[in-house]
Amino acid sequence: MKTVAVTRIGSLRDPDEKARGRVEVVDFPEQPLGPEDVRVRVAYSAICGSDPHLAEGYFGTDVPIGLGHELSGVVEALGDRAHRNGLQVGDRVAGNFLRFCGTCRPCQEGKQQFCEHIQEYNRPGMAETITWHESQLYKLPDYVSLLKGCLLEPTSVAVRIADKTRVRVGDRVAIVGGGPIGQLTLQVMRMYGATSLTMIEPIAERREMATRHGAEFVIDPVSEDQFARTDEITDGRGYDVVIDASGSTRAVKGILDIAAKGGTVVYGAMYPAQFEMPLNLSDYLYLKELTLTGVFVSPYAFPRALQILPHLDVDELTAAVFDLDDASEAFAVHVSGAHPKVVIRCNRFEESQ
Ligand SMILES: [Zn+2]
Ligand SMILES: [Zn+2]
Repeated sequence: MKTVAVTRIGSLRDPDEKARGRVEVVDFPEQPLGPEDVRVRVAYSAICGSDPHLAEGYFGTDVPIGLGHELSGVVEALGDRAHRNGLQVGDRVAGNFLRFCGTCRPCQEGKQQFCEHIQEYNRPGMAETITWHESQLYKLPDYVSLLKGCLLEPTSVAVRIADKTRVRVGDRVAIVGGGPIGQLTLQVMRMYGATSLTMIEPIAERREMATRHGAEFVIDPVSEDQFARTDEITDGRGYDVVIDASGSTRAVKGILDIAAKGGTVVYGAMYPAQFEMPLNLSDYLYLKELTLTGVFVSPYAFPRALQILPHLDVDELTAAVFDLDDASEAFAVHVSGAHPKVVIRCNRFEESQ
């Protein structure tokens, strides 16, 4: 079975071709179909900002490392006992690449994100098929296309970020980083009644995209003074909620200075394992009483992501589509930054949408 995988560890941006990480189509065996499993013929699988980190060896260096966790597809086969969520062969689905076992202590304490068996079904989805536990799958509404459906997983991250902000209607909100997660989070925050909604992003096209989707203000942190702009926009009070969706080590410290007293700061990205940020406890936690938090994975978020997906405008995130055989090129385009997101078509299905 054709699967997209990292075949050489290294930065996909390395100018030296010999040292550069490599992503190719390889042959992996199809996973066995257990009694509670569902096999899905994958339609679309999107490249995630975290995939280049896998190429750099962030989660291990034994190649090949199969990729792909943002996907949609059509049910092809069901295990004997896979009938608890009513799925049928031919159903259009998307899902969670992680299976929460439901049995371990964290699962039973309402902290699925710390499930002790979280990797058991984490399989590469940039492939012709994927086999998941039935609890990982969600049937797409008829009016959500398979192409849009592959964004259910990143939408679940935006939902989880929103959960961690504990945002209230009318809160002033800033988002740092206008990549796909930042853009989806922007739309979710707008639904929440965020005010002074601001996107802070150095790339002009991404700021413009944010403006088209509800940002009231945009700030270029390179050419503008983001602290002065924040004062202007928030009457000197700062943002009640600040969300980092950039993962940029240059950006993360300044975020504390644009947060309002008593505000919440969500570090909603992945950060380099060795990176440490200095934190003045007196300024930020004592005097300002900031709440700092982060997001690992998205427990309890998929059903609600499915509810809001039809209301999100994601056409600009699904505009660049490459066939599975062209995966290497798709990754080159992804790292070039020419498109806000790149999607791989793993099988062709007829769709009216
Ligand atoms: Zn992702
Ligand atoms: Zn568990």
